[in-house]
Amino acid sequence: MTAQIIDGKAFAARIRGEVATHVARLQADHGITPGLAVVLVGEDPASQVYVRSKGKQTVEAGMNSFEHKLLPSTSEEALLELIARLNADPAVHGILVQLPLPGHLNEDLIINAIDPAKDVDGFHISNVGLLGTGQKSMVPCTPLGCLMMLRDLHGSLSGMDAVVIGRSNIVGKPMAQLLLGDSCTVTIAHSRTKDLPEAVRRADIVVAAVGRPEMVPGDWIKPGATVIDVGINRIERDGKTKLVGDCDYDSCAAVAGAITPVPGGVGPMTIACLLANTVTACCRAHGLPEPEGLTA
Ligand code: NDP
Repeated sequence: MTAQIIDGKAFAARIRGEVATHVARLQADHGITPGLAVVLVGEDPASQVYVRSKGKQTVEAGMNSFEHKLLPSTSEEALLELIARLNADPAVHGILVQLPLPGHLNEDLIINAIDPAKDVDGFHISNVGLLGTGQKSMVPCTPLGCLMMLRDLHGSLSGMDAVVIGRSNIVGKPMAQLLLGDSCTVTIAHSRTKDLPEAVRRADIVVAAVGRPEMVPGDWIKPGATVIDVGINRIERDGKTKLVGDCDYDSCAAVAGAITPVPGGVGPMTIACLLANTVTACCRAHGLPEPEGLTA
């Protein structure tokens, strides 16, 4: 079997198109323009690239982008003061504080200072609790993107066996909650899991979010299973720098029914879902119907 390649780039472009359509409707019918504020503290090169890309795509979707670039030495007090201002600003519907923060800043304290209704990353403790109890919440962008791809591929996920490898608060845990919400039977695996190959071999859906290059070989994959590879790992091969996932692409693609490539799979979905969450937050703030298909 040769797996169907799940084209995350094309899927993300479709989501961005739907977001732009909804934004245009909000403007035409209600005179509202959704706004996303992104806060970057420090000069981490990867974070700078992400923030630039988020700003560009926000504007391309017709929304307002507010960028706040702060010095690495910014105090907790000053950052909390900025977040309080953004919480109170009616033009701002979504707030994202780019992680990781410099070591002297308490990430939990900062994230939990964001108004949960504007927490488009879905990391606020209230949103974590709402998701965990199956209530309407802001859903973390990367797992939301994975869920959208799985629903698009399978329609209903009900009754499927899923394994999520990784239990981070950003990817693994919310991914497991979303799959459970769609009535999958979910196994969450991590570094202490006794027999990972056996857990993966049972799964109709494998979501790998580990951060270890090509860790999952094809002979762990149940024939026909869907493989969602969240991992983004930079490796040196044949004298060149290359991006690879957590799954060994060639051997997994030879067995799986469908697979996301790296790059071009899950990666592009994350910012698309950030834009989707911003529109959703804007609609909720104004008591308007939410766009269909852009939330969990
Ligand atoms: P974390 O480092 O926070 O979590 C990694 C998880 O993998 C942990 O739960 C860890 O277990 C588990 N793990 C580590 N080694 C093993 C092992 N040998 N067997 C089984 N489980 C193991 O990573 P993130 O969740 O933040 O990110 C995971 C990957 O996804 C990274 O490559 C990251 O770059 C990528 N990523 C991609 C995004 C995108 O596409 N836009 C967004 C976010 C992340 P334990 O808890 O026991 O330590």
